Amino acid sequence: MIEINNITKIYNGQKALDNVSFTVKEGEVVGLLGPNGAGKSTLMKILTCYIPPTEGEASICGHSIYDDPLAVRREIGYLPEHNPLYLEMYVREFLRFTAGIYGIKNCNDRVEEMIELVGLTPESNKRIGQLSKGYRQRVGLAQALIHDPKVLILDEPTTGLDPNQLEEIRSVIKEAGKSKVVLLSTHIMQEVEAMCSRAIIINHGRLVSDDVLEHITSQQLTEKFHKVTNN
Ligand code: ADP
Repeated sequence: MIEINNITKIYNGQKALDNVSFTVKEGEVVGLLGPNGAGKSTLMKILTCYIPPTEGEASICGHSIYDDPLAVRREIGYLPEHNPLYLEMYVREFLRFTAGIYGIKNCNDRVEEMIELVGLTPESNKRIGQLSKGYRQRVGLAQALIHDPKVLILDEPTTGLDPNQLEEIRSVIKEAGKSKVVLLSTHIMQEVEAMCSRAIIINHGRLVSDDVLEHITSQQLTEKFHKVTNN
């Protein structure tokens, strides 16, 4: 579903990703862990065809990021790190606009379905600019899910949420993970424990650890994280 082969990214002489390779298969919710600046967002931007790698190849559901970026984008729902939204638009207006971009049939029904799924109903008559951070994240998730993509790529989806919002967003992501491949980034260990089946740690652009969570306790993972990122 997601195949990453020897991806390197150099920004102005600085290596942000260094020969990263891994595969994510159906049924996996993979947490991409790493300190700030490790290269998580860069990898996600490459997978979603926002920026090209310097070297290496990646494909999503068999579509190469070089040969068929449009097909890649169709397969992916993406929540970028800073979740850019049109603040002056109303929630429904924005989601209908997004649905229109994907050419979704029965657009209004789908928008209502998404509003319910992500728990936006009580705030759904507001402009996006009037929403709290947690509700803006829900709008971002709704736009990522609206075309029912096979792959979800979520860049720090729970940053800045209060504990209640955190629980709700986690459960939406977990539920989505039952039928989709999910790659989410975080620098918070508990996030991985709460949502993921596998944890990949990157540090200074290198993949330094890759574990199925069934095979490692949360304490072992925490210790490993400190060990491999402590430099
Ligand atoms: P993370 O998401 O893990 O915090 P990033 O992928 O944002 O890490 O950044 C990885 C490294 O690449 C950092 O050193 C960052 O400063 C650098 N970087 C990211 N984007 C750019 C850019 N557009 N131009 C130059 N350097 C960048």
